[in-house]
Amino acid sequence: MSTQAFAVIIGGGAAGIACACRAAQLNPDQKIILLEKADRVGRKIMISGNGRCNMTNMTASESSYHGEGARDLVNILFKKYNPQYVLDWFHTLGLLTAKEDDGKVYPRSNHASSVLDVLRAELDRRNVEVRCSVEIMDIKPTRTGYQITLTDDTVFTQKLVIASGGKSDYAYRESGSQDLFKMLGLRTTHCAPSLSPVYVKSPVIKMLKGVRANAKVTLYQKGEKIKEETGEVQFTENALSGICVFNLSRTPNQRRGCEIGVSLLPEMSAEEIRTLLSDRIKTVNSGEAQKIFTGMFHKNIGIALLKSAKLSPSAPASSLTEENVKTLAETVFDWRFETIPKFDMKNAQVTAGGVKVSDIIAEDFEHIAHEGLYIIGEALDVDGDCGGYNLQFAFASALCAAENLNTEEV
Ligand SMILES: Cc1cc2nc3c(=O)[nH]c(=O)nc-3n(C[C@H](O)[C@H](O)[C@H](O)COP(=O)(O)OP(=O)(O)OC[C@H]3O[C@@H](n4cnc5c(N)ncnc54)[C@H](O)[C@@H]3O)c2cc1C
Repeated sequence: MSTQAFAVIIGGGAAGIACACRAAQLNPDQKIILLEKADRVGRKIMISGNGRCNMTNMTASESSYHGEGARDLVNILFKKYNPQYVLDWFHTLGLLTAKEDDGKVYPRSNHASSVLDVLRAELDRRNVEVRCSVEIMDIKPTRTGYQITLTDDTVFTQKLVIASGGKSDYAYRESGSQDLFKMLGLRTTHCAPSLSPVYVKSPVIKMLKGVRANAKVTLYQKGEKIKEETGEVQFTENALSGICVFNLSRTPNQRRGCEIGVSLLPEMSAEEIRTLLSDRIKTVNSGEAQKIFTGMFHKNIGIALLKSAKLSPSAPASSLTEENVKTLAETVFDWRFETIPKFDMKNAQVTAGGVKVSDIIAEDFEHIAHEGLYIIGEALDVDGDCGGYNLQFAFASALCAAENLNTEEV
């Protein structure tokens, strides 16, 4: 069996589906095929944003993206394919959206399924041939395009779009991205998890499991301050988690010599915290030192802070010296955790690394060495911060490639 197509898109995630829809809108008389390895398309859209799908962010600019050459690529891409362009396109599909104060955009229904529903309806309306549970055995260039060998068919296509995503989450177990890259001889950069918990080496981390705290978190590499975020820190038995930590995770996941400083009262200076603790010691007096923190932090944080400052939580508060109080205040102000690099894709939201951006033409996402081959979305070495930036890139790169598949002006 063999099939002729105008365009084949490999990967039925956010980027692949959007690209297939847009390509079909612009090429109504052409055959467009979407190939997906899993048994259905758009599974990651459904789990994104805790089931709400934070589909873009109105503040998105190149500064929210990482990867070799990623910012230059995004800068060119967003000149046209910015968050408003993506939203306008979704509105034409019937999606109602809601913007939040921090620029994050969600479907108005607050259900990720609404995003996937409009995309799937468009695939149907435009007669895109969607094939799920496919296995790609081989891809070869031909004189006029590409030959894709499946287990039960050989597909010949003029245009081939790779939208196979990264290695994160369950995609790690299912992703065939690396195989595809090898079949096509694509150059890639080193892959690592990003937007993930950061594993730490600390004698007190276990006792903090399940505890949360509003804090400022600062990433240090070899003592130098790299990045700072504010938000809710979630402690696990061996890691720091929460969106603010996710946004710092890229470097400590890949490199040794990093520390995260947790500032539990960022609105106060270390000196102000020292005065506060001294006052509380007077109130607690001969009671246990850990009582100083009652009503201030979760009980286990108080105990862990004292242990980290090498003080006994059960000793009388009144036995703490001036020096002890100063050390304790400094710990509350800047509680340091040594980080451990870990390749934990299962708990990562995105992959740092992928197909080299320098091998892609920024204006249309075509590969510089392979005519008719396009790479979009997370398959590229582009990863964004948490907050709608990754889906924005997936959708924007998809629309850009789709609008440039045909030779006619759009
Ligand atoms: C839990 C979670 C929550 C997230 N929340 C958000 C959020 O709210 N906002 C945001 O901006 N980003 C979020 N992200 C990140 C965002 O979902 C991804 O960056 C985005 O989905 C990438 O889209 P993509 O289409 O490039 O890749 P993917 O969505 O990974 O899609 C790739 C598809 O290709 C298929 N595939 C792979 N190999 C093959 C092959 N050989 N043959 C056929 N098919 C193949 C895969 O099965 C998959 O369906 C979240 C990620 C996770 C894991």
